[in-house]
Amino acid sequence: MTEHITHRIAGKPWSGPAERTGDVFDPATGAVKATVDFAGPGEIDEAVRAAAAAFPAWRDTSLAGRSRVLFRFRELLAARQDELARIITAEHGKVVSDAAGEVARALENVEYACSAPQLLKGEFSENASTGIDVHSTARPLGVVGVISPFNFPAMVPLWFVPNAIACGNTVVLKPSEKDPSASLFIAELLAEAGLPDGVLNVVHGDKVAVDALLEHRDVQAISFVGSTPIARYVYEKATAAGKRCQALGGAKNHMAVLPDADLDGAADAAVSAGFGSAGERCMAVSVVVAVDPIGDELVAKITERMRALRVGDGRDPDSEMGPLVTAAHRERVASYVAAGVDEGAELVVDGRNPDIHGGGFWLGPTLFDRVRPEMSIYTDEIFGPVLSVVRVASFDDAVALVNANHYGNGTAVFTTDGGTARRYTGEVEVGMVGVNVPIPVPVGYYSFGGWKDSLFGDSHAYGPEGFHFFTRRKVVTSRWPSAPSGAAGEPAGGGV
Ligand code: NAD
Repeated sequence: MTEHITHRIAGKPWSGPAERTGDVFDPATGAVKATVDFAGPGEIDEAVRAAAAAFPAWRDTSLAGRSRVLFRFRELLAARQDELARIITAEHGKVVSDAAGEVARALENVEYACSAPQLLKGEFSENASTGIDVHSTARPLGVVGVISPFNFPAMVPLWFVPNAIACGNTVVLKPSEKDPSASLFIAELLAEAGLPDGVLNVVHGDKVAVDALLEHRDVQAISFVGSTPIARYVYEKATAAGKRCQALGGAKNHMAVLPDADLDGAADAAVSAGFGSAGERCMAVSVVVAVDPIGDELVAKITERMRALRVGDGRDPDSEMGPLVTAAHRERVASYVAAGVDEGAELVVDGRNPDIHGGGFWLGPTLFDRVRPEMSIYTDEIFGPVLSVVRVASFDDAVALVNANHYGNGTAVFTTDGGTARRYTGEVEVGMVGVNVPIPVPVGYYSFGGWKDSLFGDSHAYGPEGFHFFTRRKVVTSRWPSAPSGAAGEPAGGGV
């Protein structure tokens, strides 16, 4: 029996019919585990209306009241994080320990949002001009839309939802149709924590649902995360409709390894950051830049570690890497491996036929050496367990290579020299940089975002920029002439 997944609008499962549905797979077996309803403009309108109806009361709920809901949600999420991790693994395929790591990062964002009373303090200038005071407040926007990708089905929604509601907004969340269950679990926990009906609505679907959200006149802002072509499309369409938009796109993350680096540590980092979550992470390392003369030694160390990686069902505690999310995605990744061979890269480890029996969307860790910047395996985001090594002659060549790439999400430098690290972090044109840290995802009280084609808009996700995105400032200038009947009367000195 396959499960039926539907929308959650105004605190209730949607009971209407669905014109279209999609299949949700168990990537480890290849079986259809559920069908999910796809929303059209009608369901999106219902969800936006529910969010709009809930907005005035939620906006006017005290700061203490809003943050209490978030504190309770934090406790529920922490208590049930293993359950959520298993829900993620069942539809995404990543190993349970990886899914648990995703939930742990999500919790950081909930904890940050709990500080709303502190973070939403305004400014006050007494006597800006004689007898005139000025203050500013941070007000919510109204109904905001969140559109998330398949690869972090809990963390990415929780980059936005806690901050949006902490600021007093109401939300329509459209998660990926490939793994929709995590969002519903989150919505149920929020309801249990006391979030009023309609403050968070979850609608499922594809481009049709996204377009309806982008076109809805009562949606004030869109937070999007996904691939670069769709991020660009969403940004252009949302802003053309007068909405505030932050659209985070794809990536090609380079890890530069300098000759003075600890090569064992660098090889460990390349393997965990390249193949963790089967490379389906926007901060995955997909390019290792080996600065002469360490190429041969580094490739040998990476290869040795790759051969020891255990690929298998994410539910098996012995597995270190799971399957890809869908059969179509597996075929796309395999086609890049074929293209790399055709284009003349050296295929050091070929993961196309892993030794795994049964169904499932399997592709093992794959390594290319002597990749050149014009090859499609270098230019395109593959989003799978395929690592490319590009060899360069010098530090300057490494920085030039990274800066010439049109993506600018994350990068890392591996070196034992502080001056080299400092030059790298200063010169590289990328939004998030690690020094001997392969996946430099900022903690929840900083903000997450890339440069160039990895982000459209000017606000990064979560942290202080998240609060900035989900609020607008109101500045009030006040003058209270003292009437003779006023209790306080004129101040001594006549108010000069
Ligand atoms: P995707 O772009 O295919 O889908 C993202 C969202 O957009 C989904 O909700 C999907 O339903 C919707 N969508 C898909 N096609 C659409 C279309 N034609 N019109 C309107 N909406 C559409 O991305 P994905 O495959 O789910 O996720 C992987 C991508 O997300 C990778 O490129 C990855 O780098 C990126 N990503 C980026 C970040 C970041 O922070 N920069 C984080 C996670 C993932």
